[in-house]
Amino acid sequence: MSQKPDPQNDAYQGATSVNACMKGQVVKLDRGYPLIKDETGHTYRCEHATALVKGEQVRAVIGDNVLVSLPDSHEKAILEEILPRENELVRKDPTERAVAQVLAANFDQIFVVQPISDLNMKRLERELVLAHETGARVIVLLTKADLAESVDEIESIRHEVQKLIGEDTLLIMSADHLPSIEEVRKEFPEGTISILLGKSGVGKSSLINLLSGEEVQQTAEVRETDGRGRHTTVSREMIKLPEGGYVIDMPGVRGLGLWDADDGIEQAFSDIEEYAATCKFRDCGHGSEPGCAVRAAVERGDLAPARLASYHSLKQESKDIKTRREEAERIRIRTGHPRRRT
Ligand code: GDP
Ligand code: ZN
Repeated sequence: MSQKPDPQNDAYQGATSVNACMKGQVVKLDRGYPLIKDETGHTYRCEHATALVKGEQVRAVIGDNVLVSLPDSHEKAILEEILPRENELVRKDPTERAVAQVLAANFDQIFVVQPISDLNMKRLERELVLAHETGARVIVLLTKADLAESVDEIESIRHEVQKLIGEDTLLIMSADHLPSIEEVRKEFPEGTISILLGKSGVGKSSLINLLSGEEVQQTAEVRETDGRGRHTTVSREMIKLPEGGYVIDMPGVRGLGLWDADDGIEQAFSDIEEYAATCKFRDCGHGSEPGCAVRAAVERGDLAPARLASYHSLKQESKDIKTRREEAERIRIRTGHPRRRT
């Protein structure tokens, strides 16, 4: 490397030429550099500062509040720091044994979206655990009501799901029924940031388009016909709705492996936790222990056996990932490897 002074590089390193950091928020993540919006509404593509990605390998996620600098000599802004997150949606990285993956940060509400015509209770239970773990307000949205067989069927599903979710808000809509869309619209008030969590094809893009009044998101039909299906699924964007609320679609989220899930399970299974409070043993596993109030509830017919089975299996998954994390942490300390995040 040349020892000669490099005016450009020196200028970049000199404090006087680097503009002071400004605050911004990550509003789009795609294949390119993160797009940051500052407090005046300007947007910039940003590179992560080397210091950020080296040590703990931290990457910004959608919704992150960040500090950005604009060096004179660089065309791209530099993402210097990720500010502490108020909350996060976290799953286990599907490609790793014991690594977390943060999918979004700093949101107020999380919509768990499933089609009423093809409701998957097991997935709903899992989604609710992850959603509750974030600490945000949880809203369950059942789409495609027009595909239900009858009004009776809708009502019976409404009843069943409401029982499952307790006090969380439940909304049922159909893209061709305006009043139902207006009810959903009310749940995106000005100043709030919401994320949509749900399998591909449940109608998230359609909903965003309906609320926006324009085609801001490509729906399944468009994604298929333009052959860019894979490309569009990786993009995450914060979209401003006409009423002033923001919504983030979370496409491409297939696997929802649990990460930190103790609180989420407690809240998503508050019915079971309530029974558990009166078990004879405080650490009752609701297996073969005497005086188990949870099993008694199943025997009385107050609690569905399938629900208890889901609870057991999610608890076990949570326990397993905890063990693996502890194992990975021990190896990390022993080998001096940096911790990996997001
Ligand atoms: P996403 O993958 O969750 O974003 O789902 P899309 O919005 O792309 O929708 C998937 C498919 O379901 C598309 O073919 C939509 O036209 C269709 N769809 C969305 N909402 C409704 C609805 O309320 N009723 C019916 N019948 N189809 C819908
Ligand atoms: Zn018990």
